[in-house]
Amino acid sequence: MPDVYNWHLGRKMSYVFEEVHPQRQFVAIFNINRCIGCQTCTGACKATWTFSKGQEYMWWNNVETKPYGGYPQHWDIKILQQLDQAHSAAGVKAEWDTSQVNGSTPYGTYNGLTITEAAGAEQQALGYTPTDLEWRAPNFYEDTSTAYKGGGLGISPEGATLPEHQTWFFYLQRICNHCTYPACAAACPRKAIYKRPEDGIVLIDQARCRGYRKCVEQCPYKKSMYRGTTRTSEKCVACYPRVEGSDPLSDGVPMETRCMAVCPGKIRLNGLVDVAQDGSWSESPQHPLYHLIQVEKVALPLYPQFGTEPNVYYIPPRWAPRPYLRQMFGPGVDLAIQRYTAPSRTLLAVLQLFRTTQRMIFRFEIEEGPLVLETEVNGQPWSMYNDTVIGFDANGREAIRLSVVEPIYERPVERLNSI
Ligand code: SF4
Ligand code: SF4
Repeated sequence: MPDVYNWHLGRKMSYVFEEVHPQRQFVAIFNINRCIGCQTCTGACKATWTFSKGQEYMWWNNVETKPYGGYPQHWDIKILQQLDQAHSAAGVKAEWDTSQVNGSTPYGTYNGLTITEAAGAEQQALGYTPTDLEWRAPNFYEDTSTAYKGGGLGISPEGATLPEHQTWFFYLQRICNHCTYPACAAACPRKAIYKRPEDGIVLIDQARCRGYRKCVEQCPYKKSMYRGTTRTSEKCVACYPRVEGSDPLSDGVPMETRCMAVCPGKIRLNGLVDVAQDGSWSESPQHPLYHLIQVEKVALPLYPQFGTEPNVYYIPPRWAPRPYLRQMFGPGVDLAIQRYTAPSRTLLAVLQLFRTTQRMIFRFEIEEGPLVLETEVNGQPWSMYNDTVIGFDANGREAIRLSVVEPIYERPVERLNSI
């Protein structure tokens, strides 16, 4: 297999195809701290793409309750166990070396095996096919927390304090990651799965697919799904007509996907980043996604050790145990939570941009405002300024303008009631 460079892992790795990169990449960030588990995103995706016969159990977007939930059930536990077994068999210790952290190795270097490196002779990537029963519900164990460990009656007199709660759960929002090195494409014997050069979106050519389900077996995130009525596999298409700017609503510029645009928790931000020929992201510190992922490093990939270089990033939840989060998001978790908990002036302004306009934001600017709060966070002084952040669309037009302090609107006295 050819060697390709995976910047999440800080090293080269084996992959089925030669290294080729799109000009731009579809990227999203989900802020787990803000998700209310309302499933509006799940419903919007289903109403747009998977409402037909044969798609009843197909949820391209799902929100699952961690640590117990998963769609399909136990998907991540199962692939992590398979990787563990591969490491034991190979006598390899799967560790991150964080002694060298720089631009091309932002999280250090992963010394374990990826799913393509751990695959046996029969597979291109390590994987398994879930049973029908495991696909039966998109949020099994909804709102189920871990056991309470505190106090005589199970109640701690001090209550829960950050950085970690004694009892916890969190919502994990999941769509296809439109991976840089998709395991689904590597697995397909028909070469029906391809990555678009213009935006890095990964699609299944329905005319070529014969429903062998190798993508279902080998996508580690289990985001390729089989449809019995067409006998083909289907997956999230990243709402590509919206990304192309061909949705009638968009006035010709790229728009966020449906799941991003409906989110009442304002946890989602979605856009396109420029990619250099070597796969690194072209330097663009005024791009909100670049800023959050590459400059502030508050948003991290999901299970980077799988090795597909996923393009959906997460701001990890502050209250969950760190070992669990490090396993899920890699060694960048502690820095990400530290920066998110006491955000810099720029970070606080950029965080306001989530889910504020349907148009994708390609650049932001900040107009400085007055100091409004001085306090302490984690024992350190912290100041808040009422800055204004402005987001610009693909054509450089102003798409949104927001202040850090939310304005208060009072109804005029003649309209005290909205009825
Ligand atoms: S998440 Fe799975 S289905 Fe999506 S591109 Fe990656 S490997 Fe393919
Ligand atoms: S719509 Fe937003 S807040 Fe609601 S479940 Fe989805 S990601 Fe979470």
